[in-house]
Amino acid sequence: MSNRLPQLIQGEFRQSGTDTWIPVTNPATGEVLCEAPAATADEMERAIAAAKAAFLEWREVPVSERARLMLRYQHLLKERHDDIARVLAKETGKVFADAKGDVWRGIEVVEHAANIASLMMGETVENVARGIDSHSWTQPLGVCAGITPFNFPAMIPLWMFPMAIACGNSFVLKPSEQDPMTPNLLAELFLEAGAPKNLLQVVHGGKTQVDTLLTHPEIKAVSFVGSVPVGQHVYRTATDHLKRAQCFAGAKNHMVVMPDARKDQVLSNLVGSACGAAGQRCMAISVAVFVGESKQWVDELKDQFAAVRPGAWDDDQAAYGPQISAKARERILTLIRQGKEEGATCLLDGSECTVDGLPDGHWVGPTLFTDVTPRMSLYQEEIFGPVLCCLCVDTLDEAIELVNNSPYGNGTSIFTANGAAARKFRHEIEVGQVGINVPIPVPLPFFSFTGWKGSFYGDQHAYGKQAVRFYTETKTVTSRWFDDDIPDATHGGPNMT
Ligand code: NAD
Repeated sequence: MSNRLPQLIQGEFRQSGTDTWIPVTNPATGEVLCEAPAATADEMERAIAAAKAAFLEWREVPVSERARLMLRYQHLLKERHDDIARVLAKETGKVFADAKGDVWRGIEVVEHAANIASLMMGETVENVARGIDSHSWTQPLGVCAGITPFNFPAMIPLWMFPMAIACGNSFVLKPSEQDPMTPNLLAELFLEAGAPKNLLQVVHGGKTQVDTLLTHPEIKAVSFVGSVPVGQHVYRTATDHLKRAQCFAGAKNHMVVMPDARKDQVLSNLVGSACGAAGQRCMAISVAVFVGESKQWVDELKDQFAAVRPGAWDDDQAAYGPQISAKARERILTLIRQGKEEGATCLLDGSECTVDGLPDGHWVGPTLFTDVTPRMSLYQEEIFGPVLCCLCVDTLDEAIELVNNSPYGNGTSIFTANGAAARKFRHEIEVGQVGINVPIPVPLPFFSFTGWKGSFYGDQHAYGKQAVRFYTETKTVTSRWFDDDIPDATHGGPNMT
């Protein structure tokens, strides 16, 4: 029997009493690393009740103490950065540099959460009427829940619980069942940083456990990151149960290449942003739109794609790791087959990719298509693999129209040397995160992660000021005091003169 992963419930890591265990495998070797439990109904109930009790105490803890917890936590995460990245690399297959990046982007959010006092400041206006003042307070909501995907098992949990908890809430995290070891380690370090015992609960499982969180009356807000169908289900169910919800979903991100762009930058950035992390990033570039003569660069792009190879997490020469599962790989291979059948030209096909010494890894080599049209499944589906689709248009207007017709709106970028073209693109594009000569424009935590359209359901986004709004209520107070009630200094009673 393999190692069984505990859950953090009622302040301690405990073994589940479930009879359903989900194997967690190393996607490069197929080795079973551990088994994750599907939390029982009773365990879910106990986790939520403990989080509720913790909230009632935590909301009274001074904001500077809450900030200090985040300062200690970010310090500990930095000290243990490599250890976390090693666990993460084994269960996701990410190469070490990517694994470290996954952890680092999460640490940056914890650093940001340490600024919580200034982020929670309300507003004041004096004399809204004669002698009447108004001011607003931000107060935490209660127990918040987070449901996270496999592709960033450190960064995405860290988008959620540090901000929610810094605001004064408690939190129940349900990480992806495909790589739950990293979130467990993050929770262990949170306790080590001095977090009060019941503030964070970590339960494992899949749909059943998620649905419990979405329907439980004590859960006040739900943060979700994952695929489009699940995101829609989570948003609909949570809001149907009158909860706040922010649901970050799938994507199809376009890079528009103008003929005046720097060719070397375009090509290397296309390779990195399409193949990095095996294409398993919600901000990966999966469509290149060549405008005018820039289409002539496709042959060179093919050469650069061909030079990239996947490999084990600790192989310094490997550009990226395997797909997360055999199922994910099979889905990508099906889309590649369909692309060929539907008439796209496959310049480079990574379907048969193997890696020496790792015959059981879920490898897909870099794959490049041209002659792709918007009607093809290759274009319509989120592939989530190291596959780039190239389309050619004649003008910037056509490129903008193409991007705006996509149902997704997570990220996009333009590569150009022309400020007016960049400005037009930035202004007209209907996508929430825009890069100008930057391929993957993920905002730092003092901004927010602002996907649009089919890539996001909700209104307040992750981290930054928007996360503070999401995880708090605003209370607005209007007050009037009467001068006559000011005590007379000599008598101690109201001044009646
Ligand atoms: P997924 O939707 O399969 O799983 C996400 C979470 O939902 C997991 O915790 C899983 O256990 C749970 N879940 C799965 N099926 C469910 C169901 N039927 N009902 C309720 N819960 C369910 O996503 P994934 O494959 O783990 O992650 C990849 C997806 O996440 C991609 O589509 C990617 O674009 C997206 N993603 C989006 C962002 C963003 O910010 N927009 C960031 C990262 C990943």
